[in-house]
Amino acid sequence: MSDHKARKRFGQNFLTDEGIINQIVSAIAPRKDDHLVEIGPGLAALTQRLTRAGKLTLIELDRDLASRLRIEFVNTEHVELIEGDALTVDLDPLSQPLRLVGNLPYNVGTQLVIRFMQWGGAKDMTFMLQKEVVQRLCAEPGDKHYGRLAILRACYAQADYLFDVPPTAFDPPPKVDSAIIRLTPLRTPVVQINDLSQLEKVTAAAFGQRRKTLRNSLSSLISESDLEALGINPKLRAENLSPQEFANIANALEHSDGPALSD
Ligand code: SAM
Repeated sequence: MSDHKARKRFGQNFLTDEGIINQIVSAIAPRKDDHLVEIGPGLAALTQRLTRAGKLTLIELDRDLASRLRIEFVNTEHVELIEGDALTVDLDPLSQPLRLVGNLPYNVGTQLVIRFMQWGGAKDMTFMLQKEVVQRLCAEPGDKHYGRLAILRACYAQADYLFDVPPTAFDPPPKVDSAIIRLTPLRTPVVQINDLSQLEKVTAAAFGQRRKTLRNSLSSLISESDLEALGINPKLRAENLSPQEFANIANALEHSDGPALSD
């Protein structure tokens, strides 16, 4: 391990297990015609092996790590470094299609994934995240991890749960398990949603009180009869509804100001 002291505020847990590093790089499978963007390269555990790609862009927020990377890759022409925050760096100017990869800082991991899914310009994304976040992104109706994140994800991308990574693969070891996910943005959306903010309103209300029936949890947004008119049983709970059914409720709300007075 290097002399760099891991910084908690940047979510720094560095990969040290060679077997796991190889497994992640095999899952990414960099090719000569790829433009890879690595988020948070850190001490370059993955980075060295990613230079097989035709072009590699590194985005690192920690100034000390960025200067090490600048020195390490100064003579590698097809590698460029952006010292900045992956939450705000503009990806549009980078030549596309891009493949986004990285062992994401867990403190902003969910925010980064949502940002990249909504940006929509990636060909695919292979990320390590806290295992629970990967479970929530991949969850299907009926699963205990199914909720707002799974529904949002279904609007943008296909999710594949690749494999788990134990805390012992890192230095320092995180307190939680990790997992690798592949997200493939959908060229043709599967879920037809007109207004995302309405969908978020509906899923926040439904999963905010997930043990309640939809009739109760959504009562301030839509009437029981309007739910029935959409073919949705008001006695179901949020966990039983598909992303498209949530989208149908959100799309119906756009044309109404709440439940009819008669209900
Ligand atoms: N890739 C390295 C590895 O696997 O060993 C480091 C992974 S570590 C979990 C997360 C990395 O992301 C750190 O290098 C950290 O400095 C960097 N980082 C944290 N927040 C960031 C942000 N908002 N934008 C870009 N990089 C960030």
